[in-house]
Amino acid sequence: MSKTSTVQTQSTSSTPPCPSWCTQGVGHEYGSVGRHELARYHISKDYLDWSQIMALETRLDGPAVCEAPFISVCADAEGLNAEEAAEVVASLSLAIQQLAEINGAR
Ligand SMILES: [Zn+2]
Repeated sequence: MSKTSTVQTQSTSSTPPCPSWCTQGVGHEYGSVGRHELARYHISKDYLDWSQIMALETRLDGPAVCEAPFISVCADAEGLNAEEAAEVVASLSLAIQQLAEINGAR
């Protein structure tokens, strides 16, 4: 007459929830990222089309591990004119602010 089975219903989900800032959709897929066979990037919205917040989550045998979020700058952010450079600066300001909020909420 054991009733222990009622306790463990929530921990069986194989895909942990995304951070609140991720725009990739609930339960977005794992794939191969670099040397990781099972990994996915959580990706924020674009900040003025020049930068985003990203975080790499990897899964090995155990539970998923999410690394610290970082700012990713668009690869086109070089050879800029003054107007574009100002946009990049504004974009990074927004991303820095967002990253501080994310880290503050941990
Ligand atoms: Zn995500």
